[in-house]
Amino acid sequence: MLKKIISDSSIQQAKKLIDKAKRVTIVTHVSPDGDAIGSSLALGHILKQMGKHVDVVVPNNYPGFLKWMDGVKEIVVAEWKEDLTTWLMHHTDLLFCMDFNVPKRVGKLENLVETVSTKKIMIDHHPEPLNFCNVTISHPEMSSTSELLYRFLNDIGQLNKINKSSAECIYAGMMTDTGAFTYNSNSHETYHIVSELLKKGIDKDAIYQRVYNHYSELRIRLEGYVLYEKMRIFEEYNAALITLSFEEQKRFQWKKGDTEGFVNIPLSIENIRFSVFIREEEDIIKLSLRSQGSFPANQFAADVFNGGGHLNAAGGEFYGKLEDAVKLFEDALPRYKEQLIIKN
Ligand code: 5GP
Ligand code: MN
Repeated sequence: MLKKIISDSSIQQAKKLIDKAKRVTIVTHVSPDGDAIGSSLALGHILKQMGKHVDVVVPNNYPGFLKWMDGVKEIVVAEWKEDLTTWLMHHTDLLFCMDFNVPKRVGKLENLVETVSTKKIMIDHHPEPLNFCNVTISHPEMSSTSELLYRFLNDIGQLNKINKSSAECIYAGMMTDTGAFTYNSNSHETYHIVSELLKKGIDKDAIYQRVYNHYSELRIRLEGYVLYEKMRIFEEYNAALITLSFEEQKRFQWKKGDTEGFVNIPLSIENIRFSVFIREEEDIIKLSLRSQGSFPANQFAADVFNGGGHLNAAGGEFYGKLEDAVKLFEDALPRYKEQLIIKN
C-alpha cells in the first residue's frame, strides 16, 4: 500500500477534467531528460488506453539514449513543428504539464502554455511551482515526476492500464532522476513502485544498459579530456568547475546527451560537495549545478544564474561570454563559503 500524498480534491478535479477531454496534449520542459520523456510517454500510453487522442510535445530535441522508449518517435518537437504545436495547444481539451513548475521552463512555448485557455494539470516535483494550472499536483519530496505519475495513476484507479511499455518509461524516469537510485532515493515506497514495475515485465538491467552504456568513442574521449584538462578544483570551497566551449564541443562532435552526467563526476572526489558544469552553446551559456548534503545548488543557481531546480540538482542560463560566466561563479563562491565548508 502506498501512502496517500496527492490530495483528494486534486484527484477529483483531475479525474473530471480527464473524463471530459477527448483530445489531450502533454507538454514537458526544454532539453527534456529521462524523467520528462518517461513520465510524458507513460501518461500518454495510459490516456490512449482510456480512449483519448494524445499528443506529446517537447520544446526541443531529446537525447539519443532515450530513443528506445515506446512512442518516442511520435513526439512532436516544437522547434521543428511550430505550426502543429500552436494548433495542438489551441485544439486540445486538456493540457498536462509534466516535470516543470514554471512556464519559463518550456522555453519558446512559455507564452503559449501560459496564455492558452485550455484546462491544465501539472504533475511535477520541482519546488515552488507557479500557479498557472487548474490542478497543481506538485510534490518536491518525490524522487521524480515519474514516481508521482505512478501514484497519480494509482489514485485515479488506472494502475491496471500500465503495461510493459509504460512501465519501462516510468522506470527510466525514476532511474535517471535518481542517478540510478544513488540520490533522492531513500524512500522505501520508491522500491515498492519499482517492484510493481518489475511485475509488469520490465528488464531494469537492460534499461540501465540502454540509457547509460550507449556512448560513442568520441564521447568517452571527451570525458577523458574534460576530467584531465578542464576540471578545476576550488579546494578552499569544496567546489569543482568544468567548462566546455563551443569549439571544444565541435572538436568532439558533441551531440545532445553527450555531456549529461559530467557535472556529477567531481562529486566523487572526497570533500567536493558542489560541482558546476558550464557549457557554451551558440547563443547561450548553459549551467548544471550539483551538490551533496544541504548545500542549496538551486539557491546558488537562482542567485547567480537566474535559474533554479532542486536542492542538489539545479540549472541556469547566462547570456554573455563563457569567461564572464566563470567569473560570476568564482566571484560568488566566497559568498557561499560558510555553507560550503560545513560538513554533513
Ligand atoms: P540539468 O543540470 O540536468 O540540466 O538540470 C538539473 C535540474 O535543474 C533540472 O531538473 C531542473 O529542475 C533545473 N534546471 C535546469 N536548467 C534550469 C533553468 O534554466 N532554470 C531553472 N529554473 N531550472 C533549471
Ligand atoms: Mn524530474
